[in-house]
Amino acid sequence: MPTALAILLSALAMTAIVGVRYLIASGAFAAATRLRHPGLYLGLDPQIRREIAWSLASAAIYGVPAGILAWGWQNRGWTRVYTDMHAFPLWYWPVSVLLYLFAHDCWFYWAHRWMHRPGPFRIAHAVHHASRPPTAWAAMAFHPIEALTGAVVIPLLVVLIPIHLGALALVLAIMTVMGVTNHMGWEIFPAFMWRGRLGGWLITASHHQRHHEQYGANYGLYFRFWDRFCGTDRGIGDFAREHQRRARRAATRRGAARTGTAAGRDAGL
Ligand SMILES: [Zn+2]
Ligand SMILES: [Zn+2]
Repeated sequence: MPTALAILLSALAMTAIVGVRYLIASGAFAAATRLRHPGLYLGLDPQIRREIAWSLASAAIYGVPAGILAWGWQNRGWTRVYTDMHAFPLWYWPVSVLLYLFAHDCWFYWAHRWMHRPGPFRIAHAVHHASRPPTAWAAMAFHPIEALTGAVVIPLLVVLIPIHLGALALVLAIMTVMGVTNHMGWEIFPAFMWRGRLGGWLITASHHQRHHEQYGANYGLYFRFWDRFCGTDRGIGDFAREHQRRARRAATRRGAARTGTAAGRDAGL
């Protein structure tokens, strides 16, 4: 097969994989939301449609460089991804996962802070913050410029830092799950992960929710290290208050619908 065609097919395949992974992960957590907090996404259908459209566009932006690199890994040895468990000491396996998460978090924090400067915010990051409140579908709802800043991270890391294929799969799984659950509108993780000694350093939905409420704080991705170090950590958000607000809104809507039906009946409709 000609090289250009093989690279193109790899890019397309990876785009499809990223897109389907997004639909499955966001779809599963959106379904969990319906079970756990019925009505939480009530009235958000137009927003959810936008979130899905932006996220699928992002899938191509993430998928193309990843697909090209996957081809280069298989055919040219471009990356430092290894498959032989014993190519490095066993202790390096978990260390490489942490290294990737720390590096990604570091990149994300500073890129995200830059995105909140007036120019980049207006041009790009406003797309992500148009989700108010975000849903499980907002995981990859980014303007293409923002998606590009995210799409270069893992390809850059696999060229620089050795990682076992299984460890890379774990990093990608963590990235996907945290991307979705951080926007889901409720906390799925046990309290020790977002309160107390350990929770004070980890980011879950409670922390990222506050970013979507207050904008100029809580910029991190996985860890609160940079936020705390730079004085941008404003603690964790309050889902109970948000849930009460949405429950009141749902009740008002139901009331309005009943009144509308009664008025329609009276008018002989
Ligand atoms: Zn967000
Ligand atoms: Zn932001």
